[in-house]
Amino acid sequence: MDFRLTEEQKLVQATAKDFVDREIIPHNREWEEKGEIPRSLYAKMAELGFLGAPVPETYGGAGMDYVAFMLLVEELSRGSSSVRTTVSVQTSLSETSLLWFANEEQKQKWLVPLAKGEKLGAWALTEPEAGSDAANLSTNYREEGDEVVLNGQKRFISNGSIADYVQVYARKAGTRRHEGLSLFLVPQGTPGFTAPHVESKSKLGLRASPTADLAFEECRLPRENLIGKEGDGWNQAMKTLNSGRIGIAAGAVGVARAALEAATKYVKERKAFGRPIGDFQLIREMIAQSAVEVDAARLLTLRAAHLRDLGLDNTVEVSMAKLYGAQMAQRVTDWAVQVHGGYGFSGEFEVERYFRDARILGLYEGTNEIQKLVIAEHLLGPSTKR
Ligand SMILES: Cc1cc2nc3c(=O)[nH]c(=O)nc-3n(C[C@H](O)[C@H](O)[C@H](O)COP(=O)(O)OP(=O)(O)OC[C@H]3O[C@@H](n4cnc5c(N)ncnc54)[C@H](O)[C@@H]3O)c2cc1C
Repeated sequence: MDFRLTEEQKLVQATAKDFVDREIIPHNREWEEKGEIPRSLYAKMAELGFLGAPVPETYGGAGMDYVAFMLLVEELSRGSSSVRTTVSVQTSLSETSLLWFANEEQKQKWLVPLAKGEKLGAWALTEPEAGSDAANLSTNYREEGDEVVLNGQKRFISNGSIADYVQVYARKAGTRRHEGLSLFLVPQGTPGFTAPHVESKSKLGLRASPTADLAFEECRLPRENLIGKEGDGWNQAMKTLNSGRIGIAAGAVGVARAALEAATKYVKERKAFGRPIGDFQLIREMIAQSAVEVDAARLLTLRAAHLRDLGLDNTVEVSMAKLYGAQMAQRVTDWAVQVHGGYGFSGEFEVERYFRDARILGLYEGTNEIQKLVIAEHLLGPSTKR
C-alpha cells in the first residue's frame, strides 16, 4: 500500500486549502447569520472545478480521482460544513446519479451544466414518513400520455429550495415498498412543484445550508424526465447513497480537523495556574486522542475512496468510514469545546459551530444505526426480521 499522494492530489489539496482560508473562513459568521451561502461563492468554486470534481472532463467536470475528491471535501468541511453539504449534494448525489443512470441526451442537458457549476442540484428521497425506511416513501406518479404526474411530499432536502434541478424518487401508483420506485428530474419552476417550508437558521447546525420541504401537487413532467430504467429506483437510490456517504466521512474528518487545529492553538495560548493549559496532562490527553481519531477516520475514508478508484465494491468500507467518522467528529468537536472552557460554549470561538455541525453527520444519508446494519449484514448475512 502506498500512502503517498500523487502530485495531482497534492495540488487539489493545496488549492482547496488556500481557497478555504481566503474565500470561506472569513465569511462563515455572515453566512450563518443570513442562513445562506451567496451564489458568488458557487461561481468561484465552479471556476476551480470543485462543483464537478468527480465528473469526467467529457461531461464538463474536473475528472478528479476519488482520493483527490475526498481530500477536497475534507478541506471544504474544515472551512464550512454548510458549504461542504452543498458541494456533496451537487457532486456525490446529483451528478453521480446522472452520470450512472441518465441517458446520453439527459447527461448533455442536465449533467454538463451541473458539473460546470452553472446549475445547482438537489436529491430528494426522504419524506415525512420515510427516512431510514426509505422504501416506505409515498410520493407517487401516474402516466398520462407522454407525461407523468407527480403527487407527494419530500422532507429535509438540502438545496431543495434553491436547486435548478431536483431529482425526486417516486413510486408508480399502486406499488409497494421496494417495487415500482423510479427517479425523475424536476426543474425548478415546474408548475405544481413548491418548497413550502425552508429551514436554515433554526437548525442545530448547517445554518448556512437551506434545508427544504418539497411539495408536488399534480406536477406534470415530460416522460423524458425519467432517469434510468422505470422501476429501478431502489437500486439507484442505494448506489447513489453509497457514493454520498463517503463524502460525509470526508466531511467528518474536515470538521474534526478544524476543531483539533483550533484546540491545539488555544491550549498553547490560554494560561491557568501560571502556565499554558497545554502543559496539563489531562488536556494533552484530549489533544492526543483527537489526533489519533482524526487520522484513523481519514485512513478509513481514503481506503474507501481508493477502492472506488480501483473500481472495486466499497459498500462496507464506506459505511465503516461514515459511522466512525460521524462518531469521531462528535467526540473531537466536544473535546475542542471542553479545552476552550466557558469560551467554547460562547459564540466567540468557532469550536461552538464545529460542535453543532458535527451532529448531523450521524443522521443524514443513513444514520449511525443504519450504517451498523449494513456492516452487520456483511458479517452476519441478512437479518431474518426485515
Ligand atoms: C439537515 C438535513 C439535511 C438533509 N438532506 C437530505 C437530502 O438532501 N436528501 C434527502 O433525501 N434526505 C435528506 N435528509 C434526510 C435524512 O437523510 C434523514 O433525516 C435520515 O435518513 C433519517 O431519517 P428520519 O429523520 O426519518 O429518521 P428515522 O428514520 O425516523 O429514524 C429515527 C431513529 O430511529 C433509528 N432507526 C430507524 N430504523 C432503525 C432500525 N431498523 N434499526 C435501528 N434503529 C433504527 C434511526 O437510526 C434514528 O435514530 C436531511 C436531513 C437533515 C436533518
